[in-house]
Amino acid sequence: MKPSKSEDSTRSGLQEGNSDTNDEDKSELCPGFKDVDSFVKYGLGAVLSATKASAGLPQPGDEYDFYRSFPGFQEFCESQGDRLLHCMSQIMQHHGCRSHTRDRNKLTGLEERFDLIVDSNDVILERAGILLDEADGVNRSQQPVMPAGFQPPKIVVSSWNRKGSGSSSRSETFRLLHAKNITRPQLKFKEKVDNSNTPFTPKIFIKPNATKPLPSYFTNKQIRSERPEDLDVPAALADFIHQQRMQELVEDMFAHPYQYELDHLSMPERLLSKPEPQMYKPVAETKLSFIDSLEDLVALNEKLCKLSEFAVDLEHHSYRSFLGLTCLMQISTREEDFIIDTLELRSELYILNEAFTDPNIVKVFHGADSDMEWLQRDFGLYVVNLFDTHQASRALNLARHSLDHLLKHFCNVDSDKRYQLADWRIRPLPDEMVQYARTDTHYLLYIYDCVRAQLLDSNHGQPGLLQSVWNKSKDISLKKYLKPIFTEESYLELQRKQKKSFNTQQLTAFRLLFAWRDKLARQEDESTGFVLPTHMMCKISEELPKEPQGIIACCNPVPPLVRQHVNELHLLVQQAREMPLLKAEIAAQKTKGLTPIKKPEVMLFGPHDTSRVSESDLPPFSAEEVPVKQGVLFSEDEHKMDTDVQTTTTSGLLAPAKITLFQELEKKDAEESDSVAHMKAKRINESFENPFRMYLPSSDVHISKNAKFDPSSKIFEISKRWKLQSIEQQQTELEAKKKAKQEAKEQAKKESEERNKAKQSYQESLQNVATVRQQAAESTKDGGKKRERVVSEAGELTPKPSKKLMKSAEKPQKTEAPPQDSFKPFDYSQSDFKVFTGANSRDNTQFDPNRQSHDFKKKRTPRGQKNNVGAGNRSMSYLSGKSERGFRHNWPKR
Ligand code: AMP
Ligand code: MN
Ligand code: ZN
Repeated sequence: MKPSKSEDSTRSGLQEGNSDTNDEDKSELCPGFKDVDSFVKYGLGAVLSATKASAGLPQPGDEYDFYRSFPGFQEFCESQGDRLLHCMSQIMQHHGCRSHTRDRNKLTGLEERFDLIVDSNDVILERAGILLDEADGVNRSQQPVMPAGFQPPKIVVSSWNRKGSGSSSRSETFRLLHAKNITRPQLKFKEKVDNSNTPFTPKIFIKPNATKPLPSYFTNKQIRSERPEDLDVPAALADFIHQQRMQELVEDMFAHPYQYELDHLSMPERLLSKPEPQMYKPVAETKLSFIDSLEDLVALNEKLCKLSEFAVDLEHHSYRSFLGLTCLMQISTREEDFIIDTLELRSELYILNEAFTDPNIVKVFHGADSDMEWLQRDFGLYVVNLFDTHQASRALNLARHSLDHLLKHFCNVDSDKRYQLADWRIRPLPDEMVQYARTDTHYLLYIYDCVRAQLLDSNHGQPGLLQSVWNKSKDISLKKYLKPIFTEESYLELQRKQKKSFNTQQLTAFRLLFAWRDKLARQEDESTGFVLPTHMMCKISEELPKEPQGIIACCNPVPPLVRQHVNELHLLVQQAREMPLLKAEIAAQKTKGLTPIKKPEVMLFGPHDTSRVSESDLPPFSAEEVPVKQGVLFSEDEHKMDTDVQTTTTSGLLAPAKITLFQELEKKDAEESDSVAHMKAKRINESFENPFRMYLPSSDVHISKNAKFDPSSKIFEISKRWKLQSIEQQQTELEAKKKAKQEAKEQAKKESEERNKAKQSYQESLQNVATVRQQAAESTKDGGKKRERVVSEAGELTPKPSKKLMKSAEKPQKTEAPPQDSFKPFDYSQSDFKVFTGANSRDNTQFDPNRQSHDFKKKRTPRGQKNNVGAGNRSMSYLSGKSERGFRHNWPKR
């Protein structure tokens, strides 16, 4: 492909794509190609076949080494390699990038080249982005506007995630606005943030607009408040015991509280017919209210309940919090704009559910995927009857689907998203940021009208396309928030994305650092990116510094928590260095289905026991003999062990451990004839009583091998598994129940009964809302005491009405006959972490930080496609922090 060709086509491709006109009369756009389509087709084909060809090359390792022993192959590789390099450097030169790819030094050359390519990709994609923007009419050349009183954007919060790069040619349109010394809003929260490694359970405890009442779990304050945080045992363990004791039915704990209502949502005719777009009011003539008190919020809710639609958006902060914080909610009606301080009203926002779940009121969002999760996570808010203008834009096949673009397209408003990544915790909010936030919803109802009209027009007046947008929107509102869960495998996912081949020691370091970072981030309520950015974690793992100072040297600048815990980190690195040194291709093996076979570690030994096998204890292997495939590190594969392979291949390694803590010996028929030593070992083994055995339904206790590194983690591991099993069990039970329910659907009688109950339950809950309202009214009267009262009220989460609710909501529950004795022992060895993903996890991931970030990158702008390594770009750098967070959403284009 000639570089000039691609460049030209990109440009004209953009113009054509955006001008929405088909000027066919254009002569050849570039030599050999009549139009953009044919060029793109050709280009895609070329890329595809190149990808295929490269995948077809001999794999690194044995295969490649074998082929390389043929001089012809070697020659061919060299010449093709040179050709490729030449081609690449030409393209780079064409784009004005550095391009000395001809460094012949194979070792240093490769890394340098890789960096070069990453840099060049950055530059090229950046340029493509700018061109796209220009074609869109979005002017990116302006300097970022800073709120008065703020520093020019030198402080980039993500600086740790940035790779120091010499090229200053990049324009930076997005800036992370960062105010120093912001007090942590978390400190003011009435309800502590729950960063525990347990799945999220909905916060909702009162359900307006219900056709199916809220399960007793949510309405019973007592059950909820007795949850593990109060008990002096590991949270998950407490939870487990608690569940056992209470025989509490928790099947609904993880369901979407409005699933039923959303499933039965019917579309009124008016929403499928063509609207006459109602022009927005000019911003200058529109009243703006800043809502930061309960009474204002109640009044707003009252107002919203009378409308037939309103627009909503949220602003979010994720760097200085583990799960993230919703900082702001913007609401626009046809008449007014509202900005709600959601940090201040965090515990009260649930009252908006009255309007948000009213099926007769349309809630218009743009790109609501993450908003749905944030609403649930922080406020227990749900949306029934959502319209997502992002989905509409997609269905309309508009040039771009960002809010900027819709604003430009429908309202001819030039907006910029420069504050998108500002630190929205700042209070008082600078005026510029208020204006920015307001723009996000002010025009949205008009856009909602326009896109609906267009969706009908473009479909010859047929409602199909519009209906599909409503359906997509509904799917989004059905999204459930999933907490990032730490599993033994989480680190592998992240490691795989780093595209670095680690040896066993490095991989161990990576694993230990990953666990350390996760734990500390939860504890300190910081993002993992704040605790220790991934690229630093990689660096430390690669270097395995011998001195604490070396760890510091791997980080620039040094994250405060790294500095503070440097000795602890150093111990972890030391521990990793004690691993037998093998060429760890674990990740590769896993994907190839070659499961690692046997652990070389002796189970009994503790972390400080240096008598464990070390590098020097291993028989000397020549390079070819290194038993890569036998590399055995990971407990999670133990059960997949192939005994045949084991007996034949581990011979050169170590004898399998005979004594394991809390672990039962594998029952192998062949081993019936135990030696005396083995018998002894068995007896010793049996004398290790698991102190938690009494809580276990099954005798088959499986303990992570990680536990041996950190004695305290044993309890953690066990409790985690218990938690898991209970959830899995609940899920299977839930499944079974669902089936049973379906069959018993003829009980229409029962349904109507339920509806009555719901009504009744809601009526009572209304009283609850009323009390909030009354209170709000009261609080206006006795001004000074206002805040205090609110605090105490919210702190107890309205205890009085909830008792009533509990009673009324318990009744329908009873009709479902809770399976009192349905508890079955569970085989822990089979426990599957994937249950955490919830019911509708189509991609069977648990906490999968990288896939998410990957998706995000893919789905966003071309800029987003940059490689992780080239984190020298603002959105990238923000991302890498974010990607570690386990957020599953793919950012929609905004
Ligand atoms: P928006 O819907 O565009 O107002 O964005 C809402 C929130 O999502 C912002 O406050 C940011 O916290 C976050 N956000 C939006 N876009 C991005 C992005 N490109 N990268 C990371 N976070 C983003
Ligand atoms: Mn948004
Ligand atoms: Zn916004």
